[in-house]
Amino acid sequence: MNEDFLSQRPLPEGLHPDTLALRVSVPRSGYGEHSEAVYLTSCFVQPDAATAARRYAREQPGYTYTRSGNPSVTAFENRLAALEGAEAAIATSSGMAAITLLAVALLKSGDHVVCSRAMFGSTISLLGEHLARFGVNTTFVSQTDVQAWRAAVRPQTRLLFAETPNNPLADVCDIAALAAIAHEAGALLAIDNCFATPALQRPLALGADLVVQSGTKFLDGQGRVMAGAVCGSRALVDEQLRPLSKTLGMVLSPFNAWVVHKGLETLALRVRAQSAHALALAQWLQAHAAVQRVHYPGLASHPGHALAMAQQSGCGGAILAFAVRAADPAQARRRAFHVIDSTRVCSIATNLGDVRTLISHPASTSHARLSEPERDAAGVGQGLLRLSVGLEHAPDIQQDLARGLDHCLAVA
Ligand SMILES: *Cc1c(COP(=O)(O)O)cnc(C)c1O
Repeated sequence: MNEDFLSQRPLPEGLHPDTLALRVSVPRSGYGEHSEAVYLTSCFVQPDAATAARRYAREQPGYTYTRSGNPSVTAFENRLAALEGAEAAIATSSGMAAITLLAVALLKSGDHVVCSRAMFGSTISLLGEHLARFGVNTTFVSQTDVQAWRAAVRPQTRLLFAETPNNPLADVCDIAALAAIAHEAGALLAIDNCFATPALQRPLALGADLVVQSGTKFLDGQGRVMAGAVCGSRALVDEQLRPLSKTLGMVLSPFNAWVVHKGLETLALRVRAQSAHALALAQWLQAHAAVQRVHYPGLASHPGHALAMAQQSGCGGAILAFAVRAADPAQARRRAFHVIDSTRVCSIATNLGDVRTLISHPASTSHARLSEPERDAAGVGQGLLRLSVGLEHAPDIQQDLARGLDHCLAVA
């Protein structure tokens, strides 16, 4: 699939992921377009009835109907699989569609899942509420306590599922240790790799069986489309997930696939630069008198620092959280809101992975569904702010935050 259609030049083996991100695709059409074509078509014309029959019988490759496959979608799948070091990838309409596909394809009534209790909120609802209705039982455990994962495993355990680093405190879990626990139990390990992206972290190389991505975040990188994907072995992705994706219809649109496919070309460059900006901001915030605590795995003060450095290409990533100093939760909330409302550059938005810096207040947005005690247990206090650091000149973002933080000190 990865050859140049016009000259039939296959890519050589052993290329660096930075090169694969630019060069892995699908063959060019006969027109020789350099930027990949967008195949906005719902079906494909067959040369004759016998070919159509062979394609429907899956005896011959070739596209038939976009719910079963489309070249723009294949291009994104091939490129992402190359970046994750996976045999195969399947694209979905969103990150949550990827997680739903994985769970519905691999789990059945009576099966048991061990999952971090600090996962993305909709993942918790999917497993804890919706799949529970179908008889799938989930035990939620501490993000970072490996012994708790081991202790939660039962004979029915089929899947361990973690997100690292996670939202919003960027707590890190040990992928290799969780893989060992899963495999000892005859279960699979899936990792939500949204925050680190394959530019920093390749969970399959650390022993995970499946990786899920929200393409909506860093893979697109410019906040334009929703997309998702699951990467893993051909046996899991192509044999188990792909037929179900076609049946459920949770497929990625060709246009969105094309956008995310082009986004991957600049992923490594963006994530490295955004991470460097995040580190500079984290260091500055840590020294600010109005800031109580900074949560960023690139700082030596973060409990997951050593593990993150080993697991994430020595890089903390582009997401950080910090708590403003305050006497009580009410003052903390007022001050956090004040810092947000004093910004002029940052976007006030609960998303992440954009090239533009986004600021949010997790306690009243992404984590609002939790009760106050649950939020306290998760470390999401009223004074906590999350930044998804973008590509703006870092001192401009620093000034943007200083406006509100300095005011907190002046009125204290
Ligand atoms: C956003 C996100 C998802 C869900 O992705 P969508 O594309 O919004 O469906 C899953 N996991 C994490 C960690 C996310 O940040």
